[in-house]
Amino acid sequence: MILRTGLGVPAALVLGRIAIAATPGCGDHPTRSTTEGPFFKPDSPARRSLRDPAIPGTPIVLTGRVLSTDCRPIAGALLDFWHADTLGAYDNVGQRLRGHQRSDNTGGYDLESILPGGYGSRTRHFHVKVQAPGQPVLTTELYFPGEPRNERDSLFRPELLVTLADAREGKAARFDFVLSLG
Ligand code: FE
Repeated sequence: MILRTGLGVPAALVLGRIAIAATPGCGDHPTRSTTEGPFFKPDSPARRSLRDPAIPGTPIVLTGRVLSTDCRPIAGALLDFWHADTLGAYDNVGQRLRGHQRSDNTGGYDLESILPGGYGSRTRHFHVKVQAPGQPVLTTELYFPGEPRNERDSLFRPELLVTLADAREGKAARFDFVLSLG
């Protein structure tokens, strides 16, 4: 709701000068955490590709970097991904659609998988745990733009949207994780 003055003019226009926003830096937006959810399993395999000919779905490649809040790349960060299949089901017995990797010397990571399906009240999402060496674990989720279920999912956070584009095969997504180092 927009606060209004007695004259019916939006208060922000009356009270505020137009502030010139600083260019958002890494430090302005450390990646927020979300719930782990009920489907995390430890001991995922070390692999960058979760693709499996036996698992149907839209191919997606997620790339990005792990950065500190002062915008420096974090090498050797652990990224542990897990997500549902295209029908919204998790493998709670084995390790399908689960895998971990470490960021490279530029903080870069890449994940090959399929587009996850939503389930129940949940919109599509990747789960991920990110941990810089010797630092606490960040548990969060990544979301996909343009999904009708995003706005109906109470856990959805727009700041956790990936950038998404069509690729030669399927989709290409990008997300940079920003960690507050202690
Ligand atoms: Fe989930």
